[in-house]
Amino acid sequence: MRRTIVAGNWKMHMDHLEGAALATEIAAGIEGRQPACEVVLIPPFTTIPAVISAIEGSPVSVGAQDLWYEEKGAYTGEISAGMISALGCRYVLVGHSERRHVIGEGSELLSKKLRAALSGGLPPIYCVGETFDERESGMAQKVVAEQIGEGLTGLTVQDMQNVVIAYEPVWAIGTGRTATPEDAGSMHGIIRALLGDIFGPETAGETPVLYGGSVKPGNAAELLSMEEIDGALVGGAALEAQSFLGIVFPA
Ligand code: PEP
Repeated sequence: MRRTIVAGNWKMHMDHLEGAALATEIAAGIEGRQPACEVVLIPPFTTIPAVISAIEGSPVSVGAQDLWYEEKGAYTGEISAGMISALGCRYVLVGHSERRHVIGEGSELLSKKLRAALSGGLPPIYCVGETFDERESGMAQKVVAEQIGEGLTGLTVQDMQNVVIAYEPVWAIGTGRTATPEDAGSMHGIIRALLGDIFGPETAGETPVLYGGSVKPGNAAELLSMEEIDGALVGGAALEAQSFLGIVFPA
């Protein structure tokens, strides 16, 4: 049985006061119920301590949105895996499409960040996905295969026990357009086959592959029912407690 995860990426929303209120409401909505998945909140760095206090005693865990690949040093503005895990975070996003396409992070940097997360004991959620133009020109599989290969080749089977993949087609992020469950499920199958080629079928079968891209309460049940989809990475719908809870407990 693979782990399933629903993670809310708050992006650059929610200061520490707003974040504490949202996390408190989400934790209260989970109390006394048994989510079928692990629930992860991923706030901005400065909001993390307030969220960690707010979810204390609940099964919710917290992640960070990015990290730098060195442990410490002259890297003004950056944060290391050790600093993030010392706060109590359990995950870190690596290669979110906004880091790739807005901030310009490339595969060499992302591969260093993945390795730094793993050696700092902070499981990465490694995001991959094609742009609209890449999909339209029939390049989606090639692009995703390159992102998987460039990021993960060289990691060990043991490393992979701590890696989560998120397939997030860029054209579906924040746009209200969602991949059909069949299209998403088929790309997830392709990702699992790629993982099998690199690490063998056992590791491929155990690695959670989340879907991200305009997941909402109204489409979560159908997406999450696909055999190859092991949960969701949620942006916009994670910023309001009832809509996030509607994905954690899909109708
Ligand atoms: C995301 O930011 O990872 C994301 C999937 O955003 P949204 O759900 O808003 O498309």
